[in-house]
Amino acid sequence: MRIIIVGGGSAGWMAAAALGKIIGDQWSIELVESEQIGTVGVGEATIPQILLFNGVLGLDEDEFIRATKGSFKLGIEFVDWSGPGSRYIHAFGQVGRDLGLIPFHHYWLQARARGDRSSLRAYSVSGAAAERDSFMREDPLPGTPLGAATYAYHFDAGLYAAHLRKHAEQWGVRRHEGRIVQVGRDGGTGNITHVELDDGRQIAGDLFIDCSGFRSLLIGEAMGSAFVDWSHGLPCNRALAVPCESVEPLTPYTRATAREAGWQWRIPLQHRIGNGYVYASDFISDDAAADTLLANLDGKPLDTPRPLKFVTGHRREFWRGNVVALGLASGFLEPLESTSIHLVQSGIKHLVDLLPRDGIDEADVAAFNSKLTFEFEKIRDFLILHYWANERDEPFWRRCREVELPDTLVEKIESFRSHGRIFRFNEELFTELAWLQVMVGQGIMPRSYHPLADAPGDANVDAYLASVRELVAAKVGRMPPHGEYLRRLGEAAPPMPRKEVRA
Ligand SMILES: Cc1cc2nc3c(=O)[nH]c(=O)nc-3n(C[C@H](O)[C@H](O)[C@H](O)COP(=O)(O)OP(=O)(O)OC[C@H]3O[C@@H](n4cnc5c(N)ncnc54)[C@H](O)[C@@H]3O)c2cc1C
Repeated sequence: MRIIIVGGGSAGWMAAAALGKIIGDQWSIELVESEQIGTVGVGEATIPQILLFNGVLGLDEDEFIRATKGSFKLGIEFVDWSGPGSRYIHAFGQVGRDLGLIPFHHYWLQARARGDRSSLRAYSVSGAAAERDSFMREDPLPGTPLGAATYAYHFDAGLYAAHLRKHAEQWGVRRHEGRIVQVGRDGGTGNITHVELDDGRQIAGDLFIDCSGFRSLLIGEAMGSAFVDWSHGLPCNRALAVPCESVEPLTPYTRATAREAGWQWRIPLQHRIGNGYVYASDFISDDAAADTLLANLDGKPLDTPRPLKFVTGHRREFWRGNVVALGLASGFLEPLESTSIHLVQSGIKHLVDLLPRDGIDEADVAAFNSKLTFEFEKIRDFLILHYWANERDEPFWRRCREVELPDTLVEKIESFRSHGRIFRFNEELFTELAWLQVMVGQGIMPRSYHPLADAPGDANVDAYLASVRELVAAKVGRMPPHGEYLRRLGEAAPPMPRKEVRA
């Protein structure tokens, strides 16, 4: 079996590394990319699931952080979404500790109904650590409940692809440099037989993985899988990206600040801060968006803003014939919750689960397509929630409040609004705690809570909440500043091999 991966951005090299590691000794795996075309060059914030991906590859975490100039990420801080001055964090990992039969937040709601105003952040190790710009991977109080902080990474996307490439090539993946100018199809099945490069080389394969970015060379252009457009619910369609100089402290979280017609990201790496303004072109001009972005940087810009255009949505079929699409070629959900790289990872996992042995089975193709459609739809709902539950005055934000919500999202909001209940459907990505933090953070509060939260009595509920807050504060109080932790990690690097210089 010969697998051809088309594209060498994050998606292409993630697929190459994973397949190289898992089946590289059984199958031939090749990757085609074009330096002339280049990659999208953004995609620097991740979610904790990436630790699983890197773990499967067996990457050494310290080496990975150094190679990608990465930093640690404890969550996303949302600023000004409920009007100027508002802020909350969607922190990773636990928020409080469940007690008895019901989730923790019902006790929090019970106390709140009596006037308690403690924030959810005070019950989250990751959230409280982010607030103090502190970080360590280990549990500062081993053996106590809540454990260590849950984290993901920020990294330089180009360096991540290069790091994966190094490993993939060690696992036998062959790389071809060149621009694909034609795609060969089988007259009978319609399957792709080969791709042809600008110098005339033909690269034939049995299974093609389309990682060609927004161009969607194979699944879209060649196979004709239609695009399901979600821009009605998620109207942002452009971004401007610009790096700037680093400033102290090195914050261990992504920041998403609401702006006139969209939002601005801030992603701190070791050597620079990545920034970008994601906006809706119907509501602001490109020039005005660039002015806003440049006026809101923490450090000196290191470049001019780079424009990107996109439409939110996905290919109706992620897998058609002998083409499986991953990354931007398969669809795009804007980066508000840093989910794109995760969707690549998830696609690779489903593909590995469904790897063909004796030819491609339509039942496997259908399973792949329904799993990814489900994941895209659930993330879409979560993203729409952020936009819809805003309290801002500009025309863009008023329009977001008028959007007709998907039924699945209405259900989520209504069951939370009544008694604080949150249901996670099947394997949807975001947990109850993610939904909780965003709904509360954006002003959706339940009218009531679970009756069992009254059972311990008010004094016991208060004492319980206080004990969780104290534990969180004690853990975070033992953590070093994130910047210092990263510097120590960098210093622990083995010395670079020196080149012998002979006179
Ligand atoms: C504004 C913005 C912000 C984002 N932020 C985040 C984030 O914070 N977190 C996150 O998880 N994701 C983010 N993403 C998404 C993330 O960037 C992508 O999911 C990820 O980088 C994967 O991209 P890709 O590899 O699919 O495409 P690309 O990086 O575009 O790679 C496409 C590859 O295909 C090759 N190619 C294309 N055409 C041809 C051809 N004819 N011949 C040969 N080769 C060809 C190119 O050379 C390139 O190697 C963001 C995306 C955007 C647009």
